[in-house]
Amino acid sequence: MDTRGRRVVVIGGGPAGMMAASVAGSRGLDVTLIEKNNKLGKKLYLTGKGRCNVTNLCEVEDLIANVPVNGKFLYSAFYTFTNRDLIALLNSLGLETKVERGNRVFPASDKSSDVIKTLERYVRQNNVKVVQAEAEGIAAEDGAVRGVRLKNGDFLPCESVIIATGGLSYPSTGSTGDGYRMARDLGHTVTPLRPSLVPLETQEEWPRDAQGLSLKNIGIRLEDRQGRIVYEDFGEMIFTHYGVSGPVILSASSYIGKADPNGYRLYIDLKPALDHDKLDERIQRDFLKYSRKIFSNSLDDLLPKKLIPVIVRLSNIPPDKPVNQIKKEERQQVVMLLKQLALTIKCYRPIDEAIITSGGISVREIDPSTMESKLVKGLFFAGEVIDVDAYTGGFNLQIAFSTGYLAGQSC
Ligand SMILES: Cc1cc2nc3c(=O)[nH]c(=O)nc-3n(C[C@H](O)[C@H](O)[C@H](O)COP(=O)(O)OP(=O)(O)OC[C@H]3O[C@@H](n4cnc5c(N)ncnc54)[C@H](O)[C@@H]3O)c2cc1C
Repeated sequence: MDTRGRRVVVIGGGPAGMMAASVAGSRGLDVTLIEKNNKLGKKLYLTGKGRCNVTNLCEVEDLIANVPVNGKFLYSAFYTFTNRDLIALLNSLGLETKVERGNRVFPASDKSSDVIKTLERYVRQNNVKVVQAEAEGIAAEDGAVRGVRLKNGDFLPCESVIIATGGLSYPSTGSTGDGYRMARDLGHTVTPLRPSLVPLETQEEWPRDAQGLSLKNIGIRLEDRQGRIVYEDFGEMIFTHYGVSGPVILSASSYIGKADPNGYRLYIDLKPALDHDKLDERIQRDFLKYSRKIFSNSLDDLLPKKLIPVIVRLSNIPPDKPVNQIKKEERQQVVMLLKQLALTIKCYRPIDEAIITSGGISVREIDPSTMESKLVKGLFFAGEVIDVDAYTGGFNLQIAFSTGYLAGQSC
């Protein structure tokens, strides 16, 4: 195709937009990347706790399997630009990468800022014009894109527009849902937007007493209202003033799916390395060691300080009861609490605290082999703005890069 003189405007300078703009630029198109922040990739900076889990080095089929919502829609995108392609590209641009537990890929430097710098270099190499401005709307005529209106009153005429404005979470990074509105104005359907990979509020108030306490190496089990197990995991979590957060909790939240989380039960295994009997033996040893103390002073070897008053209260054993008077049934109650510390979920935290937005531009209205709108010629989508969402592990960024690549190649 003769691409000379064809103008493309990419709205949003996150990973999807930077990739789309660079790929379009590499084809000789006249590309403008509009970003409302004064720097590119503001959300990318926060990813992976500042280390940026760029992708996951699994098989492509497993990439799809890790996208519970509309994974099959991404078949072409994932195969056109795979996780291995992404790593090869980043390496060729000078960014070394490393693979960690669970095939998670990070920059070797552990710095998300290095990923941003690398993508900025890619954008520059491909002659993309970066403009700091806020896009307000897209003009279309006779079913085809004509240009982009900016908030400052400017109009950028073009033949293609790629919407890569991200979702609704962490709005301070610029992801304020503008793309949903722009697409709706052009007749697109936006499926209900809700938080995913999000902290959970609990009905019980005791997590507040342990707030700030981070627990590593714990087990969790999440059950629905019928007692069916929806998720089990092992790892790290944190108590907060509203309930629970941290990696295993965020992952658990995405398994609740579209259901109302109210009434789901979370069971925390504080001692997953010890089975019930071994833990009982361990507590008996501690009780022997502290036999002259009172109950509330007997758990120091077993539990973090912040959790002791909580467990003492939940056990219904008087805190001042001498340890040598604690009955077997009471001790077993403590074992139960440590193996199955139960919480009842009330709701998700608000969407602005979520890692990703579930819902978005309906995939029924997007051609999966090009990312072009089926309604408006020359309109393309890339990244989180689309109704796809994945589990943690680098899958969400791979979605941004693969859909960005495909849109940049097709526009
Ligand atoms: C705390 C946190 C940690 C995360 N960690 C990981 C991780 O380690 N691995 C992983 O795979 N995923 C992670 N994610 C998810 C991942 O960051 C997102 O899925 C990804 O950034 C989506 O990319 P995007 O380009 O579609 O959108 P975004 O990164 O949100 O970028 C959209 C851009 O568009 C701009 N924009 C919006 N509207 C306009 C407008 N009207 N005009 C101009 N510009 C506009 C915004 O300012 C923004 O810069 C994390 C998310 C969060 C919040």
